[in-house]
Amino acid sequence: MMVQYLALKAEAVDCLLFYRMGDFFELFFDDARAAAACLDIALTSRGEHDGEKIPMCGVPVHAADAYLARLIRGGFRVAIAEQIESPAQAKARGGKTLVARAIVRVVTAGTLTEDTLLDSKSSNWLVAIAQAGGVYAIAAADISTGRMEMGDVADGALEAELARLGAVEIIVAEGVAVSGITRPRATFDSAKGEAALKALHGVATLDGYGAFSRAELAAAGGLLAYLDHAGKGALPFLAAPIRRTVGEHLIIDAATRESLELTSTPAGRSGSLLDCIDRTVTGAGARMLGGDLSAPLMDRTAIDDRLNLVSHWTAESAARERLRTDLRSLPDIARALGRLSAGRGSPRDLAHLRDGLSKAWDLRERLSTIDQPPALLVALLPALAGHGALIDRLTRAIVESPSIDASQGGYIAPGYDAGLDDLRDAGGMGRREIAALEARFKGATGITALKIRHNGVLGYHIEVPARSADPLMVADSGFTHRQTLAGVVRFNAPELHEVALKVTQAGAHALAAEAAHFEELTALALGSAAAISATADVLARLDVAAANAECAVELNWCRPTLVDHACFEITGGRHPVVEAAVAKSGGRFVANDCRLSASDRLWLVTGPNMGGKSTFLRQNALIAVLAQAGCFVPAASAILGLVDRLFSRVGASDNLARGRSTFMVEMVETAAILAQATDRSFVILDEVGRGTSTYDGLAIAWAVVEAVHEVNKSRCLFATHYHELTRLAEKLNSLSLHNVRAREYKGELVLLHEVANGPADRSYGIAVARLAGMPPAVLSRAKSVLAKLEAGRAATGGLAAGLDDLPLFAALVEQTPTDPLRETLAAIHPDTLSPREALEALYRLKSVE
Ligand code: ADP
Repeated sequence: MMVQYLALKAEAVDCLLFYRMGDFFELFFDDARAAAACLDIALTSRGEHDGEKIPMCGVPVHAADAYLARLIRGGFRVAIAEQIESPAQAKARGGKTLVARAIVRVVTAGTLTEDTLLDSKSSNWLVAIAQAGGVYAIAAADISTGRMEMGDVADGALEAELARLGAVEIIVAEGVAVSGITRPRATFDSAKGEAALKALHGVATLDGYGAFSRAELAAAGGLLAYLDHAGKGALPFLAAPIRRTVGEHLIIDAATRESLELTSTPAGRSGSLLDCIDRTVTGAGARMLGGDLSAPLMDRTAIDDRLNLVSHWTAESAARERLRTDLRSLPDIARALGRLSAGRGSPRDLAHLRDGLSKAWDLRERLSTIDQPPALLVALLPALAGHGALIDRLTRAIVESPSIDASQGGYIAPGYDAGLDDLRDAGGMGRREIAALEARFKGATGITALKIRHNGVLGYHIEVPARSADPLMVADSGFTHRQTLAGVVRFNAPELHEVALKVTQAGAHALAAEAAHFEELTALALGSAAAISATADVLARLDVAAANAECAVELNWCRPTLVDHACFEITGGRHPVVEAAVAKSGGRFVANDCRLSASDRLWLVTGPNMGGKSTFLRQNALIAVLAQAGCFVPAASAILGLVDRLFSRVGASDNLARGRSTFMVEMVETAAILAQATDRSFVILDEVGRGTSTYDGLAIAWAVVEAVHEVNKSRCLFATHYHELTRLAEKLNSLSLHNVRAREYKGELVLLHEVANGPADRSYGIAVARLAGMPPAVLSRAKSVLAKLEAGRAATGGLAAGLDDLPLFAALVEQTPTDPLRETLAAIHPDTLSPREALEALYRLKSVE
């Protein structure tokens, strides 16, 4: 057994090996130690290997899913080795008692389809990254629903792209410098990738799906090879790949997503923007809304199409309620399809397809009577119908609500197959005969407690209480003794044997017939997998639109207007998550305007701590995300020019919990903004420079504001407590000063949370400290220190003395001399060069003047 085990383990090096032994999956050696620790189950031992006890633990097969889920969440991958023959077959083969085993599946986070292992509201992306000719490309699949995406990645946007998808598992070719599971380089081959995609979709050319780059095809090759490996040759259904083009989405990097808490917070989904606005009623709708918020659009027409659909349902509240009621009862057909195609489907999945598709059909009937329907609705409706034959077939074939477990049969409807009905009749007749036999035996023996029972070991047998068993034990009683237990004795009888044989044979044949039907129906459904998945997407889109309308009406949101020029005009903007929290504690959220334009594109916001600066910054970033995702926005009115990249950075001390060198992180992230933000970007910078000493911090903040203003020219909100920065308003003509208002009233600080024009009059630090409950003695001491400091500042000109003499940053930028050698050098990317090209590059460098 150890030899067999070690051979299987060698095949599954980077996975835990679940080794099937009867009713358990056993783990040995280091696998056992790791799994026992992760699952908190007992670690035992069994036998010896090389003179040492072998550590072992095990999980029962019937509960394996729950344990698998925990291991996958714990970051493990699991290879499942099943027994692929029965002990009898092994004996016949001369295998003594060791049955043959094989790895039938590798379970990883990105290859799950089981409902019990997946979150119904989240997508489950497996992403493959390839690099060819210096560019990255990704291919991504969510096999739980059969979606697939491919696309080249813009320079420097790989991490943002992975963050958009929220990849649960990442695979990369050996040698590519991105963290993920490394796979053999040979599997990331563009020619193989192209061939595999063609084979998967049965097409002669991929032109219909888009013009794919070498890198994209290589990524697809790696992805499909991995799926093949994980499924041991059973490639799941994947819909035609959707090609993502660079510039199709608002680019949001991981740090920005985290800081804005778009789809999750450190505590999970709850408290995020997604959680706050999600009114969807189906899992598929929730997944699509998450996708929308993660990847806001860049195409105005597409955004307006979505907004028109939302508008339609904000106006029609009765129709919206009706639609939502219908959607609520829909099964998750995308996931049902995913399971069926991965070979892990059940009769219930077929029933889900039947019910979901027939409801989609009804929905189309109703929605097509709408007067003057929005364009997107007209485009979506056809995909809701067209599965008539499949629905008919499944309706005839599958019972109303079949079990998830096919092994017991009973899911094929009566009347679908006459042969099956006959077998069932035979079985039923047999069971009635058995009941009659029981009555006869009772009469003949006079034992009223006699029963005919059935179990897995003896099959049908006669059972009598031990005290009445004696008369049946005699040789010519007509009964054969089988078993004596504590209180009962069990017998067989020739008549019973005969009938029982009929019943079991009929049962086995019926089961086999049902299984054959199941297989055929599954194949039939998978034949229209692409169309079913399109239907599922349309249902999800309808759910999202109706849910967004619901949210907009409930929270009094407005439809944003998207324009081409880089403006940002929000009247009465609010932060949906903070507003909900404030309302919960009985407060009222103060709405604020924000007006950025070409001539006033950088707002410097000052004011006391807790005054509402962060909230103001973030609410505007969230409004941009929501608008481009095609949602209504929390404002009285909103007009904004499309944003190409969104950045949000928060000063170091707010991120202390992350336990990194926080100032370093802050600087790295700020550097990324300065390198990437464009005049179409929207940037919020909250207390940047706070993570270091006052002088350093002020200096850095100063230079960053200048750079964003003069070089990046992005729309930007910059919150700071460095009052000195307000001097920049004199030098930078597209920068204006704003403050969150506060007042001291009878010695108490009142935070008004109102954004007003002009700089803050003072910093209110001590007043905030009082608000926080600082002891009076400390407060009064702080006051005297402050008075001293302020007197000093008045005398010397203060922290920013001398800054007025600084030359303009713009002049500086223009002065930076260009160096042709440096430029040539910068254009060389060593990773992408062949040795020959490297040599040529060297010659080129030598020839630079
Ligand atoms: P700052 O960044 O200025 O320190 P925050 O934006 O973190 O302040 O806001 C602090 C708290 O003030 C928030 O948690 C919220 O409770 C409250 N607050 C902020 N903005 C508003 C607003 N516009 N209306 C009502 N309460 C607000």
